[in-house]
Amino acid sequence: MGEAAIASGPPSDKAASPFRLTRYFSWVSLGLIALAALALGYFAQSLTLKVVSHMAERRNEAMTAVFTNVLGQDFAPITAPGLQLNAEQLRVLAQSLGLHTKTAALMQGSEIVKVKLYNRQGLTLYSSDPKQIGELKDDNPGIQSALRGAAQSMLTHRDKFDAFEGQRADIDLLASYLPFRRQGEIVGVIELYQDVSGFVKRRDALLRRLVLIGLGTLLLLYALQLLLVRRAQGIIHCQEARLQKANSELDRRVHERTEELALAKARLEHLAQHDPLTGLPNRLLYIDHLRRQINRAERNLEQLAVLYIDLDRFKEINDTLGHPVGDELLIEVGRRLSAIVRGSDILARLGGDEFACVLSCGDAALEAPLVAQKLIEALLTPMNLHANELQISASIGISLFPGDGRSADELSQAADTAMYEAKRAGRNRYHFYQPEMTTSAQDRAAMEKLLRRSLQAGELDLHFQMKMGIPAADLFAEPAPYSGAGPALRPCGAEALARWHSAELGQVPPTRFIALAEESGFINELGAWVLNKACKQLKAWRDAGLQVPHVSVNLSVRQLERNDIVQVVSQALADAQLPAECLELEITESVIMHAENAIQALLALNKLGVRLSVDDFGTGYSSLAYLKLLPIQTLKIDRSFVTGIGAHLGDEAIIQAVIGMARSLGLRTVAEGVETPEQLAFLLRQGCDQIQGYLFSYPRAAAEFAAEYAALCASPVLLQAEAEPSSLGAAANRA
Ligand code: C2E
Ligand code: CA
Ligand code: CA
Repeated sequence: MGEAAIASGPPSDKAASPFRLTRYFSWVSLGLIALAALALGYFAQSLTLKVVSHMAERRNEAMTAVFTNVLGQDFAPITAPGLQLNAEQLRVLAQSLGLHTKTAALMQGSEIVKVKLYNRQGLTLYSSDPKQIGELKDDNPGIQSALRGAAQSMLTHRDKFDAFEGQRADIDLLASYLPFRRQGEIVGVIELYQDVSGFVKRRDALLRRLVLIGLGTLLLLYALQLLLVRRAQGIIHCQEARLQKANSELDRRVHERTEELALAKARLEHLAQHDPLTGLPNRLLYIDHLRRQINRAERNLEQLAVLYIDLDRFKEINDTLGHPVGDELLIEVGRRLSAIVRGSDILARLGGDEFACVLSCGDAALEAPLVAQKLIEALLTPMNLHANELQISASIGISLFPGDGRSADELSQAADTAMYEAKRAGRNRYHFYQPEMTTSAQDRAAMEKLLRRSLQAGELDLHFQMKMGIPAADLFAEPAPYSGAGPALRPCGAEALARWHSAELGQVPPTRFIALAEESGFINELGAWVLNKACKQLKAWRDAGLQVPHVSVNLSVRQLERNDIVQVVSQALADAQLPAECLELEITESVIMHAENAIQALLALNKLGVRLSVDDFGTGYSSLAYLKLLPIQTLKIDRSFVTGIGAHLGDEAIIQAVIGMARSLGLRTVAEGVETPEQLAFLLRQGCDQIQGYLFSYPRAAAEFAAEYAALCASPVLLQAEAEPSSLGAAANRA
């Protein structure tokens, strides 16, 4: 049954129709019981038949013996050998011998209902039924067997039978053929018909009982087994249900586990594709996204914009305030930038303080600068991190697809180049990529190589620009012997400015190579060289009798960040055998503002005795409170304000305020980039202490500087009480 189901249907059918033990058992055991009952019936029947036949046979044998003994003599005449009589004659002979009466007497009270006697040829010599006398039964197997000495019996049922006492109905008979002997010799065959109806009836009743008992027993057995089987079926069902439950539990757990694994996989994928600090996509995901966007834009003939965003001076913050603050800052930057980038675009952190954004809009060229401006502005609001109020800015480079590149690498490279251009142009701005930039980037790489070689190649030199001041004594002095015309501007120092004349590139402006040296780190070597050279030069002038009070040297932020700056400076002074007061260090205001540990370096330098000056003052938004903390002696008013004198009232107001503030803090002021007598007059009116600019002197090589310096010392620029710009201009021109 089960196999048929498996063979005929799909496997699911098997599950749908489970093996029904009870039903299976019922049919099979019923079949078996029927078979057993049949076999039992058959066996009982044949057994009882045998018993009945045997008993009847024994009785027939006994009766034959009786007949032979009692009627042997009476039968002698008809069994005489050689006797040839027909049926009629035999009947007459039997009549005359009174055989009928004698056999009737013998059969009286017995179960024998017929007697027949055959001779060896099978001829019926005698029968209790006279009609049968003379019949020839030579082919009867019973007679044949008896003639060979073996009795044979046959049980038959007759509906009608001509018995000795008359006709009988519905009778069971046992016919026995037995040898008829005389003096031991078989001379014929006796056939006895015995009525065994009683036997058979008893046998049938016995048989019925036997069958009933057998069937009953089998049925009882069946019932018992059925009970057992049903119980077993129950257990199987129970186990099945349990198995099913266990299976579904297992299924559920497997499902759960699969889901957990899927989650873990997703988490891993997320980790692999995202920056752990900001949670933003990382470079991998950015490149992947950009590639897909390029494919899409190519198909739909759309534009793309890639923005490279780099924080300005992040390294300084990180180094001075520590990494925890740096990390916080990056997180906040990520948050602010994300708020501006649309959901369909991607903002990624590429590493360090570098972020990238891919804009995939219809008109990226128009949208990109708007987004870039928003990103820049978003960062300008100061951040409060770990009790520090920080202001950060960013430089952004923009490249466009397909104009600036057709691959992710090309576009990224272009955006990166544009970003560097934005930095070089003064930071806190965005720049579109232009093909020339790549060449300038290549130029930069080449130039950097040349710059590194410039020191050994002797291509670097120092120029000096004079500073003019009114000595305090002059202000109150009687007319000086050499002029007799009141206070005068005299040379009071020099600023050392680096110059590079490259054999390959020609004269390279310091703004270019200093920035390059700062980017590449070469500035430390260069700065140390400048310090040494400037100190030695000052010493040489002094030794030659030119009393230059001090030399100013520009210091880069990179130099300040190094721990060895004090060592480098004191070494330079020692090598030149100069006292520390001879050296002034100029540090750009924005550098001091951004480099926290600069204060430590400045304190140490100040302790050394070196004077410190804040260069480009007014551009870095220094707070007054902050200035008070710094160990500085000089403020150098930025040239941009000086240029505005006579043109912008705002610039004049700033200069006025700066000089006033410096006075109240006890600081000296220097104005740089002074080109016109008007500027000079204004500055002097405001009380500016020192003047530097083309009005009096251009940066010059050491020898020329010395000559100019000596000349100006000999004839300083005289100032009238009411200094006329024109007369000052004349004085300057004379200088
Ligand atoms: P800076 O420190 O502000 O130097 C003053 C710059 O103004 C010099 O430019 C000087 O030649 C120029 N200058 C002076 N007077 C006038 C004037 O009347 N009008 C105009 N238009 N310009 C005037 P220079 O020599 O090209 O140097 C540019 C910058 O390069 C310097 O600005 C300084 O920041 C940097 N630099 C030069 N030499 C060194 C150095 O040895 N070390 C470092 N760290 N930076 C240096
Ligand atoms: Ca300077
Ligand atoms: Ca300056």
